[in-house]
Amino acid sequence: SKIIAVSKTFELSHIQPLIDYGHLTYGENKVQEAKGKWGGLLETNDNIELHLIGGLQTNKSKDAVKLFKYIHSVDREKLVDTLSAAEKNLNLKRKYFLQVNTGDEEQKSGISIERIEDLYDYAKKKLDIIGLMCIPPVEEDSKKHFEILRELSKKLNLNELSMGMSHDYIEAGLCGATYVRVGSKIFGERS
Ligand SMILES: *Cc1c(COP(=O)(O)O)cnc(C)c1O
Repeated sequence: SKIIAVSKTFELSHIQPLIDYGHLTYGENKVQEAKGKWGGLLETNDNIELHLIGGLQTNKSKDAVKLFKYIHSVDREKLVDTLSAAEKNLNLKRKYFLQVNTGDEEQKSGISIERIEDLYDYAKKKLDIIGLMCIPPVEEDSKKHFEILRELSKKLNLNELSMGMSHDYIEAGLCGATYVRVGSKIFGERS
């Protein structure tokens, strides 16, 4: 799997050694934070690949498309529309994951398992959807959710799977993750 180094909450000075070492793939969960932190660096270093892994409000679509080469949190038709409009407006093409709420948790973003096929049918006409993403419920064994996501991706014929964090990335890798999102194991605990 590819490792997305999740640098949310950390300042660039804390991340810089990993950039200098040559790691190019980073994850952030907030558009505004990412803009302040990475905006300048992206202008001079086009090799850096930012992934948006947090929920996205439609009114931030344009900023998100500008900053992130990959967006993992597409979970509704309205957002597909605003992202597609932003791509046209900026003349940019990005890659996207559909986020699935595999645990059917009320407070969590992501499309339900029942609606994923409909969303995919809609989204694939407007955006380059490359895979699925999930965040398993904290109190449950992640494996079950990784397997659900893998089966869904097979069914939809999608190749990429974004799953696994610091506490379960090994499990995710074994279940076929192509991207793992690792924060605290790399940068230390967040305050
Ligand atoms: C913060 C975050 C991660 C990384 O979490 P760690 O436990 O620090 O590895 C992964 N995915 C998402 C969606 C996150 O918000």
